[in-house]
Amino acid sequence: MGLSEFDLIDRYFSRSVVRKGCELGMGDDCAILSPEIGLQMAVTVDTLVEDVHFFAGVNPRSLGYKALAVSLSDLASMGAEPRYVTLALTIPDADECWLQGFSEGFFEIADQYNVGLIGGDTTRGPLSITIQAHGVIPEGQALLRSGAEVGDFIYVTGLIGNAGLALQSYLDDTKYCDHATLRRFNMPSPRVEAGMQLRNLASACIDISDGLLADLSHILKASEAGAVIELAQIPLSDSVRQFQLITGQPGFAVTAGDDYELCFTVPPGLVDEIERLCNTWSYSCACIGKIDSSKKLTILQDGQRIEITSNSYQHF
Ligand code: ADP
Ligand code: MG
Repeated sequence: MGLSEFDLIDRYFSRSVVRKGCELGMGDDCAILSPEIGLQMAVTVDTLVEDVHFFAGVNPRSLGYKALAVSLSDLASMGAEPRYVTLALTIPDADECWLQGFSEGFFEIADQYNVGLIGGDTTRGPLSITIQAHGVIPEGQALLRSGAEVGDFIYVTGLIGNAGLALQSYLDDTKYCDHATLRRFNMPSPRVEAGMQLRNLASACIDISDGLLADLSHILKASEAGAVIELAQIPLSDSVRQFQLITGQPGFAVTAGDDYELCFTVPPGLVDEIERLCNTWSYSCACIGKIDSSKKLTILQDGQRIEITSNSYQHF
């Protein structure tokens, strides 16, 4: 006899949730949340489908970790503090080894960022994972895509293109990929603390899921602005730099997706404060350009204008 649906939920996902504002966690038809006065809820949902978002047969622990990481990255980009999460899991069968690994990875990052699993749904079908994450933000302090102003400086956290290089190495066995690079793809670290600290400092913010150029373009569109960025300023790992040189693709890193770093804009008067803040982070943070009124994204390579077409993945 395999596991029943309720045994499965009980064994792998049931945990008592003690998180501020959660009156009732999983076990009833709904969870009950009481948001505090003065806070707003940020809510995001994402679905990961096998063979679309991840390779069939991928390590279940890193899958559980990454599935939650990408949702926490959305909260980070708004400056929200993660609180609760729901998990709708569709699995082809109740494979206990897979469930053990998946739930371990999931709770590893849930504990790291202090998020509580407050409910979900479990169904049989082709493997797919839907996660809804809820965070809180002091009223009016959410970091929107639409706030960038002409003259603001553009920053990115961390190194760009590592996840893209890892993906490339899975696709065609390139040898430029080390363990740290693979980890950025399989178990990305959402920049949650950075996002929260950027409240009242950044004028606009987005997380890099589709590629830096594509995501920065979302800020530009929402803010009705343009920008100039300099490729030489984009922080790259040695592996990515080498890969770009050898393959002659200067635009590889800025068009590769899945980095889950933050791209944000800062008014000139707050640049000193931002630089001080960035120095306290354990990852890099670099100024890569400036917002202008052109309504276009101009890309410079050592001061010379170059064209790079962003081929970000679109489902339809
Ligand atoms: P319902 O029939 O009301 O949809 P279910 O039988 O699907 O309820 O789920 C029972 C309880 O278990 C609910 O509280 C639900 O939120 C929770 N639950 C189901 N699947 C999961 C899961 N994968 N992770 C977390 N909670 C889950
Ligand atoms: Mg249900």
